Amino acid sequence: MSSPGGPAAGAPAPSARAPAPGGRAASAPLLGHDEEPTLFELSVPGRRSASFRTTGVPEWSAEELVPAEELRPEPPALAEVSERDLVAHLTRLSHRQYSVDLGAYPLGSCTMKYNPKLCDEAAALPGFTNVHPATPASHAQGWLALLWSLADALCRVTGMDAATLQPPAGAAGELTGLLIMRAWHRSQGRSPGKILIPDSAHGTNPASVSLAGYETVSVPSDERGLVSPEAVRRHLSPDVAGIMLTNPNTLGLFEEHIAEVAGLVHDAGGLLYYDGANLNAIMGVTKPAAMGFDIVHLNLHKTFAVPHGGGGPGAGPVAVTARLAEFLPGPVVARADDGTFYWDGPARSIGRTHGWHGNALALVRAWAYILSNGSDGLRRVSEVAVLNANWLLARLRGTYTVPFDRRAMHEVVVSTKDAPGAAGALRALDVGKRLLDKGFHAPTIYFPLVVPEALMIEPTETESPQTVAALADALVEIAREGPEVAAGAPHATPVGRADEARAARRLVLTWDAVGPA
Ligand SMILES: *Cc1c(COP(=O)(O)O)cnc(C)c1O
Repeated sequence: MSSPGGPAAGAPAPSARAPAPGGRAASAPLLGHDEEPTLFELSVPGRRSASFRTTGVPEWSAEELVPAEELRPEPPALAEVSERDLVAHLTRLSHRQYSVDLGAYPLGSCTMKYNPKLCDEAAALPGFTNVHPATPASHAQGWLALLWSLADALCRVTGMDAATLQPPAGAAGELTGLLIMRAWHRSQGRSPGKILIPDSAHGTNPASVSLAGYETVSVPSDERGLVSPEAVRRHLSPDVAGIMLTNPNTLGLFEEHIAEVAGLVHDAGGLLYYDGANLNAIMGVTKPAAMGFDIVHLNLHKTFAVPHGGGGPGAGPVAVTARLAEFLPGPVVARADDGTFYWDGPARSIGRTHGWHGNALALVRAWAYILSNGSDGLRRVSEVAVLNANWLLARLRGTYTVPFDRRAMHEVVVSTKDAPGAAGALRALDVGKRLLDKGFHAPTIYFPLVVPEALMIEPTETESPQTVAALADALVEIAREGPEVAAGAPHATPVGRADEARAARRLVLTWDAVGPA
């Protein structure tokens, strides 16, 4: 496969590659990435990436260092490469990547926005990185102050009363929230078994419901893409523990009947869970508590400047109303009257949902992001995110089908099915792939499930008007070019169209799993 990117200058020609251990042929591409050799293919026996000959430390043999019974008969099969070749290999690979630092990444629902470097810098401060998690509270007051004020800030953003920072991801937050819901019902002497979820929900919602031991009852969206009070009323029963909602929902639409829905669920003895993975649309404008929710998780790695999607560990704090605070995972940071911080309870905690204090450095990033924006800045984030999405929608109307054509929030869902401006029958998959050729990451496709051939696009507030215009131009151009051009895309990337079905079914993640060719 050739491409404008071509093999990076300095990459060895295939014939110069060292034979691979296990006799694997130098090119056995699974995904067509046959131009950059693996480290094993670059390996030359005896080559080392570092030597410390001048330290004066005597060289020890393995036998001197490791008890005989612990020694392996054979050394592990590791690639033997020089530091120079290793760095060149990794740098070549990094140049083939697309990332949020490189350009727009309009992956709807996942909020891939630019993360300010200030937040990384804060998280790299030695005062944060060099503390052992078991350090007594009296010696880690700065850390506890940060965790306390972050929880406080998240409560202000959501309108909730107490929070745990432990869950390491959105899905972990969902499970935590559902376990809190169950503990609360138990405390009332009830054990209902069902959770209502709209059919537009994120896939983690029903998965978390099952994991928490509940059964999912799917509530169909109405013709406007919303959850109607009638549909909720139809599905409510004494066996319903609560409802999980995303608002704005995954169609990018605000649930207009949320207050009425909240009243219905509460009257039936249930609780409302807010999937706040995508808070980008509402910060400083409205709050889950004001909509009647009892429990909310937030994806700090979507909204609050924590890199995600292979970029680092996330954080999915859960915030609750006062009546649920005693069930939160513990310990939580509390503040004494004299201003000192300590680890505490809660009284009827569901237990830990993560070791130590969660993904603590992700929490530092989010805290730095919140402080640097301030409450007015967070509101501005949401205003611009919503503005960018609506501007994009206005540009795409007439070219793509808009299944629910209403004011969008932070993301828009369009469809290639019967797209009025397309020169033929386009597939969402092909549009996503063709967008890579135009210098953008693909949007989310085929989600939400209620829209056929869906493109779910979230420009976010971090892209300039010029970039959003270029994204709109690219999407319009792709439709005009028609399905023939899009079908084989991408044409201009280092890796062409990957066989995704094969990659998913034959998941080969490590060299030793490849085995001899
Ligand atoms: C991303 C997302 C989740 C899951 O979050 P993870 O951190 O990936 O577990 C849940 N709900 C919605 C709406 C999301 O966009």
